[in-house]
Amino acid sequence: MIKEPPLPTDSLEGKSPFELRVNQGHGVPESVVKAALISGEMGFLHSFMTGSTVDGPGVRVVGWTAGCNWRCLYCHNPDTWNMMNGMPVTLDRAVDELGKYRHGLKIMSGGFTLSGGEPLMQDRFAVKLFTAAKAMGIHTAVETNGSLGERLTDEELEKIDLVLLGIKSWGSEKHIRLTGKDIRPTLAFARRLAARKRPVWVRFVLAPGLTDAAQDVEKIAKFAAGLGNVERVEVLPFHQMGRYKWKELGLDYTLESTEACSPSLLIRTIDRFRAAGLKAD
Ligand code: SF4
Repeated sequence: MIKEPPLPTDSLEGKSPFELRVNQGHGVPESVVKAALISGEMGFLHSFMTGSTVDGPGVRVVGWTAGCNWRCLYCHNPDTWNMMNGMPVTLDRAVDELGKYRHGLKIMSGGFTLSGGEPLMQDRFAVKLFTAAKAMGIHTAVETNGSLGERLTDEELEKIDLVLLGIKSWGSEKHIRLTGKDIRPTLAFARRLAARKRPVWVRFVLAPGLTDAAQDVEKIAKFAAGLGNVERVEVLPFHQMGRYKWKELGLDYTLESTEACSPSLLIRTIDRFRAAGLKAD
């Protein structure tokens, strides 16, 4: 059993994921972090929110994990990259917190979503939390870049009712330029989820000049449509709400002059997914 280090606040709930949060795990010994990652008895959360209507079906409780293995140029939460920016929370405490909302979540046809950061950086914690949520009858979803999907066994995948899978770009070089990492593990995870008939919503961030090329969108659409398990595609317009975080963290933000999506670009992109036979919005 891992002893929970002192927490910065009494409540796990944050005001907003757009709040800059750093060093919440400061002072947690490295040995404790390593033990937590192996056992899953403790996790590192950037924030915990209730009442989300944009992170899966219905009204949801969302846990934003700290730690990400990618470095997307348009990331609006770069303070989630470092696991030590998350607050240490024992599994028991996270489950207790979730339990408070179980009845309300059922009434509102919602559930629990683990987002990030990349939740599967803390795969043991994620699996234990999902298992506890399922035991309480709560619908579960993970928002992931998919690159660490191989960390989950087939049985563990059954604990996740919905995967919100980020497909960021198409083509090796473009993907590496955008995220810093190879696209192949994500596509392999997508195929595995399809083979196991696990429900997926694809999330695609539309950034003008970066991810909006028609031929790339069409290839993503063709790939997603061919899987057979993609229930929906969410096209998320790029925004500049995370820009201040890059500056505060001393990171080099390269999208200073990237404009917001025009309504016509958004509609054209959604239509490209629909033309492939997908439900998209
Ligand atoms: S995968 Fe998500 S959290 Fe990680 S860098 Fe990309 S946008 Fe940010």
